Parts: sequence; structure tokens; C-alpha cells
Amino acid sequence: MTYILVINAGSSSLKYQLIDIDTETVIAKGICERIGIPGSQLTYSPADGEKVVKQQDMRNHEDAIGLVLDILADKDVGVIQDMSSIAAVGHRVLHGGEKYSEPVLVDDKVLEAIEECIPLGPLHNPANLMGIRGCMAVMPGVPMVAVFDTAWGQAMEPKAYMYGTPYADYEEFKVRRYGFHGTSHRYVTGRAIAWLKEKGIPKEEARVITCHLGNGSSVSCSKGGRCVDTSMGLTPLEGPPMGTRCGSIDPAIVPFIMEKRHLTPSEMDTYMNKKSGMLGISGVSSDFRDLDAAKKEGNEKAALALDMFAYKVKQYIGAYAAVLNGVDAIVFTAGVGENDRTMRQMIAENLDYLGVKIDSDYNMTCPRGEEVEISAPDSKVRVYVIPTDEEMTIAHDTAALAL
Ligand code: AMP
Repeated sequence: MTYILVINAGSSSLKYQLIDIDTETVIAKGICERIGIPGSQLTYSPADGEKVVKQQDMRNHEDAIGLVLDILADKDVGVIQDMSSIAAVGHRVLHGGEKYSEPVLVDDKVLEAIEECIPLGPLHNPANLMGIRGCMAVMPGVPMVAVFDTAWGQAMEPKAYMYGTPYADYEEFKVRRYGFHGTSHRYVTGRAIAWLKEKGIPKEEARVITCHLGNGSSVSCSKGGRCVDTSMGLTPLEGPPMGTRCGSIDPAIVPFIMEKRHLTPSEMDTYMNKKSGMLGISGVSSDFRDLDAAKKEGNEKAALALDMFAYKVKQYIGAYAAVLNGVDAIVFTAGVGENDRTMRQMIAENLDYLGVKIDSDYNMTCPRGEEVEISAPDSKVRVYVIPTDEEMTIAHDTAALAL
């Protein structure tokens, strides 16, 4: 048994999973919520036991991690003897700027670099740092690994990552496309490459388009397992419309709406990140299940939001097939990609010019939570549904560097 703790720290929350990397199993997982806010709560779900919910004050991330370790080693509900059983900790970090294209062992230099990237990830990087520092305080000597969400996009060429804004802004402020959901795109691409190998397509030649469709959505494409392009940009706002994010819009809309609605830059940011997308269009919800239900009841705006989403994802698939000069596999993953069969159908239908033909019956009946191929036997392009597993990928990265 080799235990790796995987931490995904947000500004007031901290998700954790304890993974036995030898057997690739999750031993326990949970979340600390409302950190630093009255009413903090820890949720703990051991794989072989009952879920525990504990209301307890957490002043900061250090407190939260202390509580996580306490419950993991609790004599009644715990799963480990003590915290010395944890061999290493893997941290999900949002932004590594242009410095990191691979996971790294955390040292002072890495902490500094994550701090330097705060202007690029103002909400997440400070929280990620608090998570790392909190762990270092309560687990001295245990190796920490940072796995960056932006690392996957670092393989892009300048023509893919540069925007048409003055070059000086790239030099001075590092304005460029970085892309996010990198750990997920990397993982599902690796799985698709393994499937394609069985079909006689070697890794170096594999052209894969991955659709990570969830509350946040991004589409990415790769050749030989290296990212060629990805839809999220300087921030996770670019791409198809998302749960509450507007996705790509004409940039001129920004000053126009700010003027019309008298919004400050920060209010405009909230408008684009929290009030737009599927929620903003439908006025119903950001959740695709609610939208599906509303559409069935005849809600036209919900139907429009879903149509727009499918249309935009399809546009990315077409654009990336052009960039790759063809495509061998298309992958659907994340909450919507793994579960919303109708959305997969809407995206993948009428792509026969590309050689994509899905087995519509199987798409509607295939098991959930498993890797499945939903393309028809005579489809030139393989279409897969692959459940993403960012935590397991982070655990593997951590084990590879720290053990
Ligand atoms: P994620 O961000 O990957 O956790 O995905 C969360 C989103 O997946 C939710 O907001 C839902 O919109 C969507 N989702 C989850 N389950 C289903 C389902 N059975 N049908 C449609 N959408 C789903």
C-alpha cells in the first residue's frame, strides 16, 4: 500500500482524495467547505464506510488539512494508522504560466513561481498556495507535487497560443492562450491513444479531439499526445458557452455592455463568468439536466441554450479537424460528456463529411462510468466516452516524482 493524498484547494473549499497508488483505488475522499467563513463543514466518505459530516471551525486551509488528517487517522472511522502512512501529496494548481509544462516537486522556487502567476489566476492560485502551505505546515518532510492545469497547453505553438493583440502585451503581461482542464485532456487523450493503438494507429500519428464538457467546458486537440490547440484561453472563460460563463464572444460586446449597463470591470467579469452561458441564455439553470427537463416541457430558451452549446462544440471539432488535417478519435468526457447522451448525439450527428458516424442506439444505452466506444463499426473516426479521472492522474504524477 502506498498512499497519496490529492488536494484540490479552492478559495473557501478543499477537496481531498486518499489514493492507494499500488491498487489505483480511492480509499477515502471528501471536502472541507466554508473555510474561513462561519459554519465550516468537513465531509468524509471512506470507500468502505459511512459518510461523515462534521461541523467544525476552520480558520484557514491549514486548519482544514489538519482536520482531514485527523479524520483519515481517526480510530473509529479512519482508514490509516497515522499520517506517516501518507507517502506524498499531489496538489492541483490552476496556473503555472509559461514555466511549467510538467508536474514538479514543490520547493521554494516553485512556490514563488505559483505566486508570480497570481495575476493570471487571481482566484485559484492563492487558494492553491494556501493548500500547499497548509499541507507543508502540518506534514513537514512529506514531498509535495504541483500538477498544473495549464501544463497541457504548453505544447502549443506560438501561432496557436498568440492573440491578435499587440506583442508588447504578451511580453509585458504574458497575454496568450494557456488552456485549462489540462490534466483531464491529458488523461483522456492517453486513454484514446491506447484504444487507437489496438486499431493499429501508433501514438506518434494519433490525432485526437477531446471534449471536456461539464460545468466548465473546453475542447482540445492533439497529435501524438501533445496538445496542438485548446479552446480555453488566458482564462477559463474562452470557448463554447458554459454553465454560467459566456464563452467566446465578440470582444466589442465588453465595452458596449459596460457602458449600457454601467458596469465596472469587476462587475463585467461577474456578468461574463457567473450570469451568462447556459444560465444567462435560458434563464432556467446552468445544469444541463434542468435544461433538458425544461426543453421537454417546451421551454424555447432552454432548447436554444442546448442548441447553441452543441453548435459551438461542433464548430470546435470542425476547426480542430482542419488543424490536425483529419482526426482519428473524438472523446467525450466530464459531467455532460459522460452523461448527457442527447447532447453527444446533437454534437456528433451530421459529421459524416468528417468520417464520423455514431451508433445512435448504443449511444443512448451504453453503460455510464465506463470507457465505451459509441462510433459505428464503419465510422472512419472512433468516438469514445471516457470518464475523466483528474485525481488519479495527479496521484500517478505525484508518485512518479516523489517516490
Ligand atoms: P462537471 O463540471 O464535469 O462536474 O459536470 C457537471 C455538469 O454535468 C452538471 O452541471 C450537469 O449539467 C451535467 N450532468 C451531470 N449528470 C448529467 C446527466 N445525467 N445528464 C445531463 N447532464 C448531466
